[in-house]
Amino acid sequence: MAEFTMELNDEQKEVRDWLHGFAADVIRPAAAEWDEREETPWPVIQEAAKVGIYSLDFYAQQYFDPTGLGIPMAMEELFWGDAGIALSIVGTGLAAVGVLANGTEEQIGTWIPQMYGDANDVKVAAFCSSEPDAGSDVASLRTRAVYDEAKDEWVINGTKTWATNGGIANVHVVVAVVDPELGSKGHASFIVPPGTPGLAQGQKFKKHGIRASHTAEVILDQVRVPGSCLLGGKEKLDERLARARERAKAGGERVKNAAMATFEASRPAVGAMAVGTARAAYEVALDYAKTREQFGRPIIDNQGVAFQLADMRTQIDAARLLVWRASWMAISGKPFTAAEGSMSKLYASETAKKVTAQAVQILGGNGYTREYPVERMHRDSAIYTIFEGTSEIQRLVIARTLSGMPIR
Ligand SMILES: Cc1cc2nc3c(=O)[nH]c(=O)nc-3n(C[C@H](O)[C@H](O)[C@H](O)COP(=O)(O)OP(=O)(O)OC[C@H]3O[C@@H](n4cnc5c(N)ncnc54)[C@H](O)[C@@H]3O)c2cc1C
Repeated sequence: MAEFTMELNDEQKEVRDWLHGFAADVIRPAAAEWDEREETPWPVIQEAAKVGIYSLDFYAQQYFDPTGLGIPMAMEELFWGDAGIALSIVGTGLAAVGVLANGTEEQIGTWIPQMYGDANDVKVAAFCSSEPDAGSDVASLRTRAVYDEAKDEWVINGTKTWATNGGIANVHVVVAVVDPELGSKGHASFIVPPGTPGLAQGQKFKKHGIRASHTAEVILDQVRVPGSCLLGGKEKLDERLARARERAKAGGERVKNAAMATFEASRPAVGAMAVGTARAAYEVALDYAKTREQFGRPIIDNQGVAFQLADMRTQIDAARLLVWRASWMAISGKPFTAAEGSMSKLYASETAKKVTAQAVQILGGNGYTREYPVERMHRDSAIYTIFEGTSEIQRLVIARTLSGMPIR
């Protein structure tokens, strides 16, 4: 188990500084343009691929950092640059992790390279779970995958929504129901290879924030994929379904705990994104407060402004500590007995919303315009309390974990 330390080692500091340089020199200057265009920033992704930030190698290196701090540190720096562009860069990683976690070695070797493409021809991937009637309530997915034994193919039908990179992805990872009796335990994930007939993009959403990140519906109409596209393979699925049926009879507790542990481990990464946006807005506000003069003195001379900045920084640091703790727990295999992963995501995302709103206020009229980045950061921050489980769902998970009660 890795010793917990608050000090990044030399290698981590080097990576952090390298990422910060990319965020400051490449991402931040492009942020306003791609926010306005509301399009995937392909040239920036390509630049990230050229320097090695947009690659499975880089992602895996951070993911397996034994201190657990690789991913939160990387997310914080990239999202400090700009949330929309950073999500375009890391969005593929969400689908890749789905394959890494559940796929066979052959599936990992076949599909992950196709998710990223290469620096001369970058590709993206999408992870499609949410549906119009199944957002927070993931157990109520309707997209159905049926096995055609004669052809060794799966036939998938349904509508996915809110998919980051949905429809523009080279590879889609689709979660579908294979056994409706088992709720979320009857789900399986499938690779939909590039160019598969029947997969189409539905509406592309015009969003409040993170507008450089593409979000769309994905329609699956009689999509046929080979048996080899079932993540983990048929034998493993059959075993898992058999176990789930047994456990459902016995009360289902162990299965529930396994699924929860996965979320607890992934949620701190979203918390780290929120810390990045909050820190960016705080820094702009601090600089502004020191230079903007009213009544013949800098506005930071007023306790009313200075105390806001003190609170902002305190909350950002507290959020980072919760994120780092949960990330260290995940890599160390510690049990999340108080839903510490959900706690970190809840606190960091709410902090980002609050801090970016305060930053807008500190910049006054300027903060309300697109001339200054805090306006965009405030819009962007609203996503953190919604995706990867809303704040209400985080509170539900924490309260249930603490109390052991089936709180609704
Ligand atoms: C920009 C963006 C990108 C996304 N990217 C992806 C992606 O790549 N892949 C993917 O699969 N999904 C993605 N999502 C979907 C996201 O995870 C869902 O939007 C989220 O889980 C919430 O689901 P919902 O929007 O259906 O809201 P709902 O579940 O309908 O919730 C609406 C409101 O009701 C509250 N609520 C619901 N149930 C309860 C309860 N039991 N107790 C208290 N309050 C409750 C919620 O907290 C929320 O405030 C993305 C969403 C967005 C906006």
